[in-house]
Amino acid sequence: MTRDNSGDTALMVSAVEHAIAHVEHGGLPFVGVVADSSGRSSCFGTNEVRETGDPTAHAEIVAMRDVLAQRGAGSLQGVRLFATGEPCGLCFRFAVDHGVAAVYVAVDRDRVAHYGFDYRASYRHFGITDDLRARLLHPLSVPQDSEPFTHYLTINNEGTSS
Ligand SMILES: [Zn+2]
Repeated sequence: MTRDNSGDTALMVSAVEHAIAHVEHGGLPFVGVVADSSGRSSCFGTNEVRETGDPTAHAEIVAMRDVLAQRGAGSLQGVRLFATGEPCGLCFRFAVDHGVAAVYVAVDRDRVAHYGFDYRASYRHFGITDDLRARLLHPLSVPQDSEPFTHYLTINNEGTSS
């Protein structure tokens, strides 16, 4: 089975669609999903920090932990992580430490910051250098990729200005 770019794009489109739906249900605009050589291999992870009280339950880590649980092993060697918004330093660190081969990102951290989620200071904290980031990061923009964020802003700016 060959892996072509259209499969990657389709997976990112699905992730963005999940993020839009999640925002409509009151969630955050971040979705993470893992793919191996045969395609999607995790849930569409969403941020579960509030629900679980676990401060590390970011969308991307939820997806990566799903694969770790299935494999019953501590490695994500060779898998690829897809994220609707660029993972923060904590999630990058988790990916690097578990051997994730590549991180595909629809909306990068500068655009995400523009939408009000500025975690750019977190990379240095977790030892994610520009060099390390550049080695893993693959921009993968899809047509609707801004919508989870713009939708989030629209919903959450209503009635909260008092
Ligand atoms: Zn994160």
